[in-house]
Amino acid sequence: MIDEIMPALFVGHGSPMNAIEDNEFSHAWREAARQIPRPKAILCISAHWETHGTQITAMETPRTIHDFYGFPSPLFEKQYPAPGSPELASQVIKLLKGTSVLPDQSWGLDHGTWSVLCQMYPQADVPVVQLSLDRTIGAEYHYELGRQLLQLRREGVLLVGSGNIVHNLRMMVWEDTAFDWAVKFDAYISKSILEHDHDSVIHYEKQGQAGMLSVNSAEHYLPLLYILGAGEKDEPVSFFADKLWGGSLSMRCVRIG
Ligand code: ZN
Repeated sequence: MIDEIMPALFVGHGSPMNAIEDNEFSHAWREAARQIPRPKAILCISAHWETHGTQITAMETPRTIHDFYGFPSPLFEKQYPAPGSPELASQVIKLLKGTSVLPDQSWGLDHGTWSVLCQMYPQADVPVVQLSLDRTIGAEYHYELGRQLLQLRREGVLLVGSGNIVHNLRMMVWEDTAFDWAVKFDAYISKSILEHDHDSVIHYEKQGQAGMLSVNSAEHYLPLLYILGAGEKDEPVSFFADKLWGGSLSMRCVRIG
């Protein structure tokens, strides 16, 4: 039954400061969490953990990783002490076919995960595991891994992809604006998502220069493919944020289900 499936979310995380600021983005994330059933556990695919081969955090108590520089000290002091779930990690290792997934004991929760979850679940009382991005595989394969994760949604696990549909730090300007190519690409991808045209999302390079500039180094884009892959065919799709910021950053957030 489709109404028994936990929604899946892609969150445009943007600046780490969203973890401690009360702004339109953190508000949208909190609201998104309020509107879905309380998850049994969370599996997060973060842009900020790239590996050779896929890995999954398998420790009882993942540490909070402050993987950024030049931000104010309250952000470095922020901790997100959510428990891990070795059980869920083992389940994912068995679930994902066609690749070997290694249990990890050293990573933890990077800011792609905790900057979002500390707004959505501030009590840090839902177990969290992180899945890494294998950078040796292509976009289709990331989508396929997402498809294999669909089953977890039926068991009350919340899948969260954390990245940005448009993300180009080299082009970024610290003001409330958006470049034409960023607007164009974001509109194209959002239209493709609404039309369930996942091939166009996977093969974003067909958008030429707008695609190349927007996806740039790809790690912020790939988490989206897991979330789309984990959707059922006729599920509703909606956006709970859609703003472009900083010239080259899309804060668009997607809810499946
Ligand atoms: Zn990021």
